Amino acid sequence: MTSPAVAERAIELIYLVSGTLFILALKWLSAPATARRGVRAGEVGMLLAICATLLHRGIVDFTWIAIALVLGTIIGVPLGRVAMTAVPQRTALSHAFGALCVTLVGAAEYYLRAPHVPAVMMAVLSMEVILGGLTFTGSLMAAGKLQEILPQRPITYKGQNIVNLSLLAISVALAALLVVDPGRTSLFPLLIGIPLVFGVLMIVPIGGADMPTVISLLNSYAGLSAAAMGFVLNSKLLIVAGALDGSSGFILSVIMSKAMNRSFSNVLFGAFGQVQAAAAGVQEARGVRSATAEEAAQILAAANSVVVVPGYGMAVAQAQHKVREFYDALTRRGVDVKFAIHPVAGRMPGHMNVLLAEADIPYDRLLDMDAINPEFAQTDVALVVGANDVTNPAARNDPASPIYGMPILDVDKAKTVMVIKRSLSPGFAGIDNELYYLGKTLMLFGDAKAFVGELVRELGGEGR
Ligand code: NAP
Repeated sequence: MTSPAVAERAIELIYLVSGTLFILALKWLSAPATARRGVRAGEVGMLLAICATLLHRGIVDFTWIAIALVLGTIIGVPLGRVAMTAVPQRTALSHAFGALCVTLVGAAEYYLRAPHVPAVMMAVLSMEVILGGLTFTGSLMAAGKLQEILPQRPITYKGQNIVNLSLLAISVALAALLVVDPGRTSLFPLLIGIPLVFGVLMIVPIGGADMPTVISLLNSYAGLSAAAMGFVLNSKLLIVAGALDGSSGFILSVIMSKAMNRSFSNVLFGAFGQVQAAAAGVQEARGVRSATAEEAAQILAAANSVVVVPGYGMAVAQAQHKVREFYDALTRRGVDVKFAIHPVAGRMPGHMNVLLAEADIPYDRLLDMDAINPEFAQTDVALVVGANDVTNPAARNDPASPIYGMPILDVDKAKTVMVIKRSLSPGFAGIDNELYYLGKTLMLFGDAKAFVGELVRELGGEGR
């Protein structure tokens, strides 16, 4: 075999190993115990893929590649160091970069080949740039909303869906014209420009709080456009990686929508999040029972079983390490402590698992919703740490509630309920929570980190 043929073989082989590592990464990422290994496998797979690509004979000059690598590193390193609560917008930025890359490659390939582009290739190329373009601006908008650079609330106007769908229809019509006659190069800028506008308009009516689900959906678009790019460039690795990205992003959005009991159309067109201000005013008139850390600690110390229910407030307060100390203090006293994990607690999938793993809470203490719900009735104390919607019994009892039908943690079935939060303000869904007004509920008002710290002190576990 000649040396170029050997190099080609080696590249294909390395790509095969990369693809396998990507598949294993996804598998390992699905369980907390193996998630770190999954991240490593993904990293090694990507490194191998980049190295193999650099072996290609088609590369005649490495200057621009070196510049791109340096630039990518300069941008990538700080992006990897953002706070955990900023990961959704960071992920959106990564999708934006990926989608921009796909769109640019698609444009370059078109102009290199036009007018001699076979119909199937033109169709795939069109799909690549349409999905790439809308994912680029859509992801930037999503990141802007999450970072609160852009207004979070949904902005709606009459006929909005018709305008948006018309833009998409025009893009598809342009693609069809180009498939019939790829020589119409003047149409190509429109094929890129209209999806760019569509990406912005698509996100405008979606509330900031729905962005994680939207980002997951954009993730799947980015994956599909990368797979299309794989066809155009005849790269099997890109096809595999794009398909994995596309399908996993889609499955994740389905899981998130199901866990919120929302349909895709409700997330994309429902303008969720507009009612928050109205709902917030209603609660103040009703009475709740509150308690001090000392009183709460006495009840906790006398309990046999405690289930901790973490939520978004624990993430905001960065209270996970205090929660670990709390777990240690109670466990030392012989109390059985478990953690109830709702699939959409927090603001991104796996948010609670990641934070509790960071604090080294044993994995076998973390129980999914279906596993922990039957246990609440035998639980002495359910301690809610900055969670709200995922514990709201209105999801079971009130057909008029916007979260009716959403699966929740049955915290209200525990013998005593304690809720750590700063006020009676609503959470993500913007609605009041019946749980706070139950006779068995004690409100522990305060910042999650500070209050759990006080509980630890009262339980005699400080500083260990
Ligand atoms: P939540 O309903 O948003 O409630 C969080 C609560 O944390 C708030 O009521 C807030 O009350 C409290 N809080 C905020 N900062 C705090 C602090 N420093 N210390 C103590 N408490 C603090 O959160 P959740 O119960 O975790 O539910 C998640 C919600 O997000 C669900 O509605 C879900 O559908 C939605 N969602 C989740 C995802 C996901 O992937 N996880 C994606 C999209 C949407 P105070 O202001 O009174 O303190």
